[in-house]
Amino acid sequence: CLLCSCSQKGPAEQRIRRINRPMMGTLIEVVWRTTGEGTGAEVVRSTLDRMEALSSRMSLHGPASELVEINEAAGKEPVKVSPELLDLIEKSLSLSRMTGGAFDPTVGSVEAVWGDIQREGGGRLPGEEDVRDALDWVGYERVRVDWEMKTVFLEKEGRRLDLGGIAKGYIVDQAMAWLNGRGLRDALINAGGDIRVSGTAESPPWRIGVQDPFEKGRLLGSFLLQQGAVVTSGTYERYFEGEGGRFAHIVDPATGRPVEGLVSATVIAEESFVADALATAVMVKGRQEGLATLVRFPTARGVFVERNGTIWVAEDLKNILELAPLPSGNTVRFYGPPVSFLLPIS
Ligand code: ADP
Ligand code: MG
Repeated sequence: CLLCSCSQKGPAEQRIRRINRPMMGTLIEVVWRTTGEGTGAEVVRSTLDRMEALSSRMSLHGPASELVEINEAAGKEPVKVSPELLDLIEKSLSLSRMTGGAFDPTVGSVEAVWGDIQREGGGRLPGEEDVRDALDWVGYERVRVDWEMKTVFLEKEGRRLDLGGIAKGYIVDQAMAWLNGRGLRDALINAGGDIRVSGTAESPPWRIGVQDPFEKGRLLGSFLLQQGAVVTSGTYERYFEGEGGRFAHIVDPATGRPVEGLVSATVIAEESFVADALATAVMVKGRQEGLATLVRFPTARGVFVERNGTIWVAEDLKNILELAPLPSGNTVRFYGPPVSFLLPIS
C-alpha cells in the first residue's frame, strides 16, 4: 500500500498480516501485527463483515439502507433506525454546528443536481435556478433526532441526508473498536484514504503517507503515527465531469456550487469520523477560513494543498512530517500556533 506501511520490523516473533476487501466504492485494507498462535484473521473477517453491514445501512441506495427510508419519509414521518445511525447522524449535526455549516449532511439535494450533469445531463451544467431550488432543502438545523423514540425526522419533503462525507470515517472507527475489543490492538485500517491506526506502547508506529494531489502514486511526504486517524479529501479522485472541466464532488452548502481553491485537505485527528468531516469542511471553507476552523479543534492538525501548488502544514507537524523532494513550483508554508501534543518521532 502506498499510503501506509509498517515503519520498522517488530520483534522477531511478530508477523505482519493483511486482508483486503472491496467495499464502499473502494478497497478496504486491514493490516495487523500478531505474535504467537492466534493469527487474528477470523477477527478481521468478522470486522469486515460488520463494516459491510454498517455501510449498507448508511448508503444512499439499496434495500438494506435505513438512510433511504429516512429520505423517503422526509416531511412525512419520523423513521426508527439503528443506534449506530442515530449516533452518526447526531455526530454529523454537531460537526455541522462546529464548522458553521460548512459540513452539512443535508447537502444531498444539491449533490444530486450536480450528480445529474454526469448521469443524464450529457455534461451540461445545472442552471442557477436548479441550484437555487435544490438549496432550499439544505439545512442541518431541520433534522430531528429523537433518542427516546430512536427516530430521525427530516422536516421538509425533499430534504435529503447524505452521509458520504463522514460515514466512511465513522465505520472505520467502529471497525477499529471492534478489532481492539477482540485482542487486535496493533492494527491499521485504510478505507481508500480514511486511515486509522492503533498500537500499544511497545509496538512500533505506523508510517502514513500523504498523497500528492497533483500526481497519482506520488507522496508529498510521510510521518509516523502510533494512534489516531488521517483522512484526505480531494478533488482529484472523485469529481463530476461536465462542460468546462471537472467539478469537485464536495459542494459548498452556502452557494450550492462545487468547491474550488484547495485541491486536497488531509486532517489528522484522534477519531476518523472527525477527521473525515473536517477534511470535507476545510475543502468547503478554503485555505484561510479552513485553517481558522481547524485550529478551533485542539487535537486536529492538517496538511492542505492549494491549486497554485502551495502546501500548508500545521506548525506542530514541522518536525514530524518528512516531506518528499518538492516538484518545482510547490512551496511549503506553516500555519498555526505550535501546541505540541504530537510527539516528534525520530
Ligand atoms: P471522499 O468521498 O473522497 O472520501 P469526502 O469525505 O470529502 O470525500 O466526502 C465527499 C462526499 O460528501 C460527497 O460525495 C457527498 O456525499 C458529501 N458532501 C459533499 N459536500 C458536502 C458538504 N459540504 N458537507 C457534507 N457532506 C458533503
Ligand atoms: Mg469527508
